[in-house]
Amino acid sequence: MSASFNFSGKVVLITGSSAGIGAATAVQFSRAGAQVVVTGRRADKVSEVAKECLKVSPNGSKALEVVADVTKVDDLRRLVDTTIKHFGKLHVLVNNAGAGSAIGIDNKDYYSTYLKTMQLNTNSVVYLTHICVEHLEKTKGNVINISSGAALQSGEGVSSYHVSKAAMDMFTKCMAAELGPKHIRVNVINPGPIRTEILNAAGLPQDKIDKHYDYFSNVLPLGRVGDPDDIADSILYLASDHAAFVTGTNLISDGGAIAANAINGRTLREMLQ
Ligand code: NDP
Repeated sequence: MSASFNFSGKVVLITGSSAGIGAATAVQFSRAGAQVVVTGRRADKVSEVAKECLKVSPNGSKALEVVADVTKVDDLRRLVDTTIKHFGKLHVLVNNAGAGSAIGIDNKDYYSTYLKTMQLNTNSVVYLTHICVEHLEKTKGNVINISSGAALQSGEGVSSYHVSKAAMDMFTKCMAAELGPKHIRVNVINPGPIRTEILNAAGLPQDKIDKHYDYFSNVLPLGRVGDPDDIADSILYLASDHAAFVTGTNLISDGGAIAANAINGRTLREMLQ
C-alpha cells in the first residue's frame, strides 16, 4: 500500500479524516512522510487518527488536529488559518467529508434535506477550495475531491446525494480548467460501495447495512465491496507527481460497478429507505 510514494515535506489537509476513507488517507499520507491535518467534528476520533498517523510516520511527523464542522464557513476559515499558522504551507487538499441522504421528492422534509446535503457535500467543498487557492498556488499543489459513483448515474429516492456529487464533478472540471495556469491540478474520485461508517451515520439499522454490503459483494465484478484503503491508494496516486499531467479527470474506483451497470437505483431505494 502506497510504499512507493514519497510525500516528505508536503502538507496535506484531508477533511472528514476522523473516520472511514479520510482516516485511511491520513494514515497513508503519514506513512509516505507527509505532514497531515486531521479534522472532523468528533475530537476523540480526530485524536485517535492523529495517534495512528504518528505511529506510521517515517519522520515522526505529528498530525495537526483541528475539530471543525465543514458546513460552517467560520470553521473552514479557522481550519485553513490554523494549518497555515502551524505548517506555513499547503500542498494537497482532499475534500472528503460528506454524508449520504436517502429521501424521496414527495417527502415533506425533502427540500430541507436537499439543502443540508448540498451544504455538506458541495458548498463546503466550493468554499474550502476558494480559500485554499492562494496557498496551493504558492506550492503548485493539487486538490482531490471525493465524489461518488452516484454522480455518474441516477438513483431513485437519493436525488439530493446524487445531485450534490454530480455538482462536485462539474466543479472539479471547471477548477481544473481555471487553476491549471496557476499549476494547481484538480481531480475527482468516484468511489463505489466502500465499507465505512457512512450508512451508520445516515441512521440506517445494522441489518439494512449488512444487506447493502452483502448485495454489493455479490453484484460487483470484482466480487467484493471496497475498503477505505482502496480509495486512499487512488488519492495518493492523484496527489503524487506520478499524476503530474493528470487534471480534471474522474478516477472511478468502484470494483467495476459502473462498467457492469451493477448499481440499480430502484434496488438501492428499496435497501436504503
Ligand atoms: P464516514 O461516515 O465513514 O466518514 C465521514 C467523514 O466525514 C467522517 O470523518 C466525519 O467526521 C466527516 N464529516 C461528516 N460530516 C461532517 C461535517 N459536517 N463537518 C466535518 N466533518 C464531517 O464516510 P466515508 O468515509 O464512507 O465517506 C467519505 C466520503 O466518501 C464522503 O464524501 C462520501 O460521500 C464518499 N463516498 C463514500 C462511499 C462509501 O460507500 N462509503 C461511496 C462513494 C462516495 P465527524 O463525524 O467526526 O464529523
